[in-house]
Amino acid sequence: MTASPLPIEFVTSAIDAKVLPPSPAEVAFVGRSNVGKSSLINALANRKQLARVSNTPGRTQLINMFALPNGSTLVDLPGYGYAAVPGRVKQGWQKMIEGYLIEREELVNVFVLIDGEIGPTKLDVQMLDWLRANGIAHTVVATKHDKVKSAKRQTRKKDLAAGCMLEPGDIVWVSASKGVGIEMLRSLVLGHLN
Ligand code: GDP
Repeated sequence: MTASPLPIEFVTSAIDAKVLPPSPAEVAFVGRSNVGKSSLINALANRKQLARVSNTPGRTQLINMFALPNGSTLVDLPGYGYAAVPGRVKQGWQKMIEGYLIEREELVNVFVLIDGEIGPTKLDVQMLDWLRANGIAHTVVATKHDKVKSAKRQTRKKDLAAGCMLEPGDIVWVSASKGVGIEMLRSLVLGHLN
């Protein structure tokens, strides 16, 4: 398996998953706002501005779709849990995303991003519970590996996995800034989409 940058190109943005074009196979990325999702997608592609990195969490409530040359797709779902989003908008978002995750036939795997510095939040655990309850295939990716001090890494890896009700070996740790785990994640994505 190759681990060179994923040759993905931007396809479209949508506010509703229902209008996304068909795809032979798709993976989705989901996580709370500011988890490092845009930075990670850029690192996978080795591009600086493919996905927009924002200092204002929650500003982008759009679904972004990217495609590999073989037509298979990566979907960047809007970040959840931004405090300033009014309740009704949050609910609408939740319904739309849940509908997508359940109904999208092309979807082969969901990468659930958890902030490695903070560990799983209540919303992250809810998302994992919901994916399990609905039998939706997923992989937990812990971001910002570089932000965890090396002396604390072993404990953090154990605690984060336990918080997700998983074993440490189940979690893919990445750092978009330092490149840690990026090649591994590229291989996993290609494994699902090739
Ligand atoms: P998104 O809201 O999930 O798309 O998150 P962004 O990619 O916009 O990143 C949110 C913040 O975390 C930004 O300030 C990024 O620079 C920072 N960030 C993202 N990935 C990493 C990482 O691997 N290491 C460090 N130290 N910071 C990161």
